[in-house]
Amino acid sequence: MEPQDFADVLKAVRSFVREQVVPREEEIEETDAIPESLRRTSRDMGLFGYALPEEYGGLGLSLSEEVRLVFELGYASPAFRSMFGTSNGIAGQVLVNSGTPEQKDAWLPRLASGEVIGAFALTESEAGSDPSTLTTTAVRDGDGDGYVIDGAKRFITNAPEADVFMVFARTGGAGSRGISTFLVEKGADGLRIGPADQKMGQRGAHTAEVFFDGVRVPADAMVGTEGTGFRTAMASLAHGRLSIAAVCVGLAQRILDETVAYAKERSQGGRTIGEYQLVQGLIADSQTELYAGRSMVLEAARAYDAGEDTKLGPSCAKYYCSEMVGRVADRAVQVYGGMGYMRGVAVERFYRDVRLFRIYEGTSQIQQLVIARNLLR
Ligand SMILES: Cc1cc2nc3c(=O)[nH]c(=O)nc-3n(C[C@H](O)[C@H](O)[C@H](O)COP(=O)(O)OP(=O)(O)OC[C@H]3O[C@@H](n4cnc5c(N)ncnc54)[C@H](O)[C@@H]3O)c2cc1C
Repeated sequence: MEPQDFADVLKAVRSFVREQVVPREEEIEETDAIPESLRRTSRDMGLFGYALPEEYGGLGLSLSEEVRLVFELGYASPAFRSMFGTSNGIAGQVLVNSGTPEQKDAWLPRLASGEVIGAFALTESEAGSDPSTLTTTAVRDGDGDGYVIDGAKRFITNAPEADVFMVFARTGGAGSRGISTFLVEKGADGLRIGPADQKMGQRGAHTAEVFFDGVRVPADAMVGTEGTGFRTAMASLAHGRLSIAAVCVGLAQRILDETVAYAKERSQGGRTIGEYQLVQGLIADSQTELYAGRSMVLEAARAYDAGEDTKLGPSCAKYYCSEMVGRVADRAVQVYGGMGYMRGVAVERFYRDVRLFRIYEGTSQIQQLVIARNLLR
């Protein structure tokens, strides 16, 4: 995107998030839903397709641009970004990287406009950190003209709302080489979505189990070629990890801003608590780590766009920033004292919300393994 156009997008998104989304965070928490007016404005602003190619109706941002946009989106309740995060990220990128021209034509413009919602269905009850052991199967139909999918996925973001699922299923052979990717549409016979999970945080974003009971799909529902599903999933996740790291940076900035504001306003012993050096230490540590996280994400995105590194940087950034935002939220609760432990206070909500970032799209331990294996190889 032209630099001036991108600057305009950033400015518009920044004011939308701060002036319209932030004031409605408590409502999102209470209703466990994103208000329709915010959804509509997000669609109008192109947010359902910021990472999807321009030729399919997206904004076509590079990863360097995307992370800067996500710094802004991350400033509000993470459920807000999650509304379009999967369509842009792990689900949408499956089609961008591996879809046929027909699949791209059929789905990307509708994903980018927000008309349809995508989901990425990889995790199973016995295959989480190691998805290469997944057991959902896709067996060639008797006529040889398609596949029949059987199995179950869990913790699938957007499953209750999704119109199209990127499903990873075993087509033959053990391990990562036996997995293929399929597009499965909502309403397919034998497809059932469980009730929404009751989560610790991020209310307004929903996950659920997804069951496949003899779901028939045509042969052209396969994304990429047979046996390439694992690679497709990993490529999508690498992109997604940088995006998650950027959300962590945006949210850490918000939490730190809340912390500083409170430290300037709250008094004890005749002084504002911000005047006490031990409180200043908490604030300084959060600012320093936030600065490091932001710098790391920007550099990792640059290297990704330049084709220099699509793996190590995203894992380092996801690992560091998800741990960093956890520490920033923890210090925020500390600075708030007893108030930080009370429902209805933003930092208490964020403390619960940020816990997820160390778990999904690869736990911190899995990022450590990816990082070390890349170095030791
Ligand atoms: C809110 C939410 C949304 C999600 N959205 C999606 C989604 O949209 N699509 C999707 O497919 N999945 C999704 N997930 C699933 C998520 O990616 C997994 O939960 C995650 O990868 C961890 O898998 P697991 O829960 O099975 O934990 P496990 O794999 O059982 O891990 C348990 C613990 O063991 C550790 N561990 C496991 N293996 C190793 C190892 N080899 N070395 C060291 N430590 C290890 C882990 O780090 C962790 O601490 C979501 C999860 C949540 C909670």
